[in-house]
Amino acid sequence: TAAVALFTADLRLHDNPVLHGASGGADAVVPLFVRDGGIGSAGFDVPNRRAFLADCLADLDAGLRRRGGRLVLRSGDVVEQTCRVAHAAGARDVHVAADVSGYAQRRTARLRAALAADGVRLHVHEGVVTALPPAAVTPQGKDHFAVFTPYFRRWSATGLRSPLAAPRAARVPDGIASEPLPHSAGVPGTSPGLAGGGERAGRRALSGWLGGGLDGYADRQDDLSLDGTSRLSPHLHFGTLSAAEVVHRARGHGGAGAEAFVRQLAWRDFHHQVLAARPDAAHADYRTRHDRWRRAPREAEAWRAGRTGYPVVDAAMRQLRHEGWMHNRARLLVASFLTKTLYVDWRVGARHFLDWLVDGDVANNQLNWQWVAGTGTDTRPHRVLNPLVQARRFDPDGDYVRRWVPELAGVEGRAVHRPWLLPGRALPGHYPEPIVDLAEGLDRFRTARGLR
Ligand code: FAD
Repeated sequence: TAAVALFTADLRLHDNPVLHGASGGADAVVPLFVRDGGIGSAGFDVPNRRAFLADCLADLDAGLRRRGGRLVLRSGDVVEQTCRVAHAAGARDVHVAADVSGYAQRRTARLRAALAADGVRLHVHEGVVTALPPAAVTPQGKDHFAVFTPYFRRWSATGLRSPLAAPRAARVPDGIASEPLPHSAGVPGTSPGLAGGGERAGRRALSGWLGGGLDGYADRQDDLSLDGTSRLSPHLHFGTLSAAEVVHRARGHGGAGAEAFVRQLAWRDFHHQVLAARPDAAHADYRTRHDRWRRAPREAEAWRAGRTGYPVVDAAMRQLRHEGWMHNRARLLVASFLTKTLYVDWRVGARHFLDWLVDGDVANNQLNWQWVAGTGTDTRPHRVLNPLVQARRFDPDGDYVRRWVPELAGVEGRAVHRPWLLPGRALPGHYPEPIVDLAEGLDRFRTARGLR
């Protein structure tokens, strides 16, 4: 008998319930990945993630080959392709991970119906993409938690499954054709500092993190210049690392750093459980506030380009383009700047992030944007992060700014955060004047929200 393991956001051999489930009763398994045309037409197939994905597929194929198997790659409609492969392999069972976006939920429903028409069963595995399945942590009488703190309490008290070992052998049925695998090197338009993908890279990064930065994480997580976070987010997004295994291993390590780190991983699960219950939150306000967002194309473009005249904002926006990644504290402050200081719709910012972020993810990106914009789950929806205060606290010596804004590289110390105060007022290297007065921005926001 044969089964199909349909890989989606779980591009790994270790701790993969989908692969484990498919291997269970079958003599042979088709490890299948479908380059889904729907992802491209929805605008999600962007260069940075496409390149990272190519690394992930190459590494998955290499891992399967070391075990006697190989990856089967197809392109097109995921339902149609999976049915074809199942038919060619004579498979009676297809295994896939449960996922939370509206798109993924519809895809699973379509797949189940199409396979059933051919007499093939679909097994949907929970707790593959997140550490805990959304349904495992729900409040009484409601379908999801809308506030993080009570969610986290419950999440922490809920048992986690033990990680599964990688399969020792893989046998693929004969005669199943695959398209050639893509190469990350051939993808145009990627960020120059983009990290490499793949399960082996992810596992190395995790081991390095557990043995290195984790202990200092609680003290360093918000410091922009120290860069003291794990940078595991792309691996969690593509599933080259299992969230459950990361939580498990961090808890095994113990200490204040691990505790703070696991709390961040719970945020990831939290946003997934919100989206699972409210898939429309990917584009519609989670809590409608009737914001009359400004159309400010020139200001939004200055924000995207890292030319707002606020060095800490500009440093962050340039880091995004250069690395396809941005520090969490920086994401918070640039999102607040766009949605509250400039009062531009959070969807404008979320779209730009999804164009560049290698970890760009519907659940985390859209719901964090909503959280910052005050349309989401933040219990203090009207808080505004002042970029100068943020800079003083989280880049006290200005090192982060000097790293990413070369025009200001020669300005010493924290003076770099207020270049308009430099003697002579000639801004070095054509660095722009501030595009907005912070007090005016705050005033406008307060008026718009009816806070005065
Ligand atoms: P660490 O600090 O090492 O944290 C470990 C892991 O915890 C992360 O890899 C991530 O999986 C999870 N995590 C940490 N903070 C958050 C958070 N606030 N929400 C959800 N999960 C979190 N994260 C994404 O993975 N994809 C996105 O598209 C994304 N968009 C964001 C947009 C905005 C406006 C904001 C404010 C945050 C966004 N985040 C997103 C969350 C967070 O910024 C990143 O997960 C984090 O910066 C990744 O770096 P790291 O792996 O070094 O994190």
